[in-house]
Amino acid sequence: MTEQMTSQFPQALSIAGSDSGGGAGMQADLKTIQERHVFATTVLVAITAQNTLGVQDFMALPTKIIDEQFVSLDADLAIKACKTGMLADTIRVHNVVENLTRYDFGPLTVDPVMIAKGGAPLLAEDAIATVKKELIPLATIVTPNLPEAEALTGLTIKNDADMQRAGQQLQAMGAKNVMVKGGHEADPTTASDFVLLENGRSFWLRSPRFDTHNTHGTGDTLSACITAELAKGSDIETAIRTGKAYVSATIAQGIKVGHGHGPLNHWA
Ligand code: PLP
Repeated sequence: MTEQMTSQFPQALSIAGSDSGGGAGMQADLKTIQERHVFATTVLVAITAQNTLGVQDFMALPTKIIDEQFVSLDADLAIKACKTGMLADTIRVHNVVENLTRYDFGPLTVDPVMIAKGGAPLLAEDAIATVKKELIPLATIVTPNLPEAEALTGLTIKNDADMQRAGQQLQAMGAKNVMVKGGHEADPTTASDFVLLENGRSFWLRSPRFDTHNTHGTGDTLSACITAELAKGSDIETAIRTGKAYVSATIAQGIKVGHGHGPLNHWA
């Protein structure tokens, strides 16, 4: 019998919404986790009818079936790290928080998904308070983009100093580690992310900005890669650096799918 058959293979969990178009959400998580050689499991919270042109409709699932997915996973699997993506509304944020408190699925990456690139809301506005109060304090790492960091902190982020301030505020809310992603900045040449670690160390991660429309699912892909690396036992800084390198490669090597904001290349 191979070693693979005698000890549990690394397993990670995505708690998120489905993107029928395959580029973002749970589908991006699954593709990413698979590419990182980790076994992917899922708790589906919402379903979107979506393609590369936008989100046409969505439906959140009843909390009973969300609960039951957690029960099933806990009864059998050995999940070593998990992440949250689209959580839809206050009821589901609260429900997911309750389940995360009930079970030990390892370090938690919170991608505070709010609005899709085309403008469709993926989280009700009145749920932001529950994300701040209940979900962020459970986070091993939180990975907001600039609009999400602004919504969570109330700051207007215009420069590097503002990004650092947002990072500190998010850590003060209870997230152990914070990555504020600068992909939405005005800078035409560089995408800069600010990282603040639990041990007080902070640093910038910079990558060239690519001239491309294939950026659908970048936040999901980054947070799923961090989650997969944590499931394999990486320390947080290595997981973050691997996530940044992976998402940059998936953007740089984009593929032609659909007619709008195309997906990333998860084989990169
Ligand atoms: N759809 C779902 C279900 C998502 O979870 C996300 C992002 O997390 C998106 C769409 C948005 O993707 P993007 O803003 O990268 O286009």
